[in-house]
Amino acid sequence: MRNQNHLYSILIFLLLPMIASAFPQQSLVPGGIAIIEIPANTQASYGNHFVAITTHKQRHYAIVGIPLSAKTGQHQLVLSNGKVLTFKVKAKDYPSQYLTIKNKRMVNPYQNDRDKIIQDKHKKKQAIKTWSDSIPNVNFIQPVPGIFSSPFGLKRFFNQQARSPHSGLDIAAPTGTKIIAPSAGKVILADNFFFNGNVIYIDHGQGLISSYSHLSKILVEANQQIKQGDTIGLVGETGRVTGAHLHWSVYLNQTLVDPKLFLPKP
Ligand SMILES: [Zn+2]
Repeated sequence: MRNQNHLYSILIFLLLPMIASAFPQQSLVPGGIAIIEIPANTQASYGNHFVAITTHKQRHYAIVGIPLSAKTGQHQLVLSNGKVLTFKVKAKDYPSQYLTIKNKRMVNPYQNDRDKIIQDKHKKKQAIKTWSDSIPNVNFIQPVPGIFSSPFGLKRFFNQQARSPHSGLDIAAPTGTKIIAPSAGKVILADNFFFNGNVIYIDHGQGLISSYSHLSKILVEANQQIKQGDTIGLVGETGRVTGAHLHWSVYLNQTLVDPKLFLPKP
């Protein structure tokens, strides 16, 4: 019996790091998140968008996505009770990254690829606008084990040409590695995009949306409800990539934020 208990504790010890979750970390910088306590039964908006509200230890918090393009200084959160709360955004200098893409079509697409790219952009925009009233579980678990090979927000250059900043966190993992849902939600998009390759978007509630790119295989379909930890697809290298990895993005109030802020500190 004693031995068995010992075995269980080893098992629990081994499993814990895989299922660790934590309340997000505040980071008051462009691409970061502000976590602001608000009264119960109150809505909050930032810019032109409602923000996600969640509860933690019986208190209510607005989880605000700060855009990469945000100016430094005072920002306002407007509450439905008429009050205005402020928070101060500090500067953050994201480093540059230079990548060489062998498939030149992925850097300078052909004329006939452009329609597809525009179509993809439109679908993305619609997905990001999704609003559902369910309270999101913001205590995420890591979708794939592996090292963080490229952080969010890097200023990117593909074959020496400037492109949009890195819109997610890259986790290096071999093709075929299972990707799990970091939090419960509903699949809003399961598709194939020119740059993202096979891609999934999940609505976690109240504008908290996550996406998974470059998959070798998608194992869910649109409108499917998923639980935290459900397998949604397999890591791959479809779309614009330099190798197999998961490109993971997180949106709040229609704004891209650093996914790492949702993971427990290592
Ligand atoms: Zn990436």
